[in-house]
Amino acid sequence: MKSSAVVNFAPEKGSVEIREILEPEIGENDVLLEVANVGVCGSDLHQWTADHSWPVNYPVVLGHEFGGHIVKLGSEVKNWKEGDRVVSETAAVIDANNPLSRQGLYNLDPTRKGFGYGVNGAMTRFVRVPARCLHQVPDGLPFEQACLTEPCSVAYNATVINSSIKPGDRVIVIGPGTIGILCAAMAKLCGAEVAIVGLETDQERLNIGNSYGCTPIVGDATAWSQEYDGLGVDCVIDAAGVSATLQMALKYVRPNGQITKVGWGPKPLNFSLDPLVQKNVRLQGSFSHNWPIWEKVLHLLAAGTLDVKPIIGGVWKLEDWHTAFEQMHSGKVVKSILKPN
Ligand SMILES: [Zn+2]
Repeated sequence: MKSSAVVNFAPEKGSVEIREILEPEIGENDVLLEVANVGVCGSDLHQWTADHSWPVNYPVVLGHEFGGHIVKLGSEVKNWKEGDRVVSETAAVIDANNPLSRQGLYNLDPTRKGFGYGVNGAMTRFVRVPARCLHQVPDGLPFEQACLTEPCSVAYNATVINSSIKPGDRVIVIGPGTIGILCAAMAKLCGAEVAIVGLETDQERLNIGNSYGCTPIVGDATAWSQEYDGLGVDCVIDAAGVSATLQMALKYVRPNGQITKVGWGPKPLNFSLDPLVQKNVRLQGSFSHNWPIWEKVLHLLAAGTLDVKPIIGGVWKLEDWHTAFEQMHSGKVVKSILKPN
């Protein structure tokens, strides 16, 4: 049986189309998951517009933010059954014997391959998922929200694990995309006072940041960063899709503060990093997430402590992927979601 899939077939810009693909065969440690919802990620857009900086295994089905029902189980799969409501982590292929995997940081295993670029992703009806990637979706949490566990986990890792934010800290988040807004929401949960910074064209997305209790700022956040004691903010989370914003972050951060960079931007920079030294600032990258983070995020979503509804801009059928991508790419919506079935 064949199903429609959103396929990224070549490295050239715009090389995405609907193709008919066969139902994937599963291995003994895999399940076959029938996709209920799949979020469109900034990285899906980057592959579509060909400004990504990671290797893609063409042709590949896009989509790594997904959830659905288990419809088939491999012979060695234990503790799961047909009909279970699940979401899947993104590290589809890992080396279990890599030292990083063995300490639970399989997301940082250099040989890791993720859904949507390394192996076929979830913008289709059925996806093959290793059972170790699965998490149970709590009853009452709809898939439209549960499929956003992935970007929430990216934000949790950047904000809670890789940054040290204490109640009363002041935090600036640069970039009001999905990850930026979710980082801002997480920083609020950590007890910080938070501003979210974007461009003139980001007004609507900044307003959504505002609905999470964050101060929206268009353009220059220097004045906000200097409020309180004139020294800058405790932490800057850089979630913009360009790396030049690191220069802004160096300006806003206070001496002995921290910058966490979670946004990708492949272009080289041409400014001095001396302020990093002079201010004794910690520069921290943040990538992906692992098992304990997913469990925490699912708990936050199920409890309603973290509400992702404000960022959901719409749900589109698979055939309408282009509209869903376009709406998000133009900044009209923060997060587009597809419904393959
Ligand atoms: Zn993503």
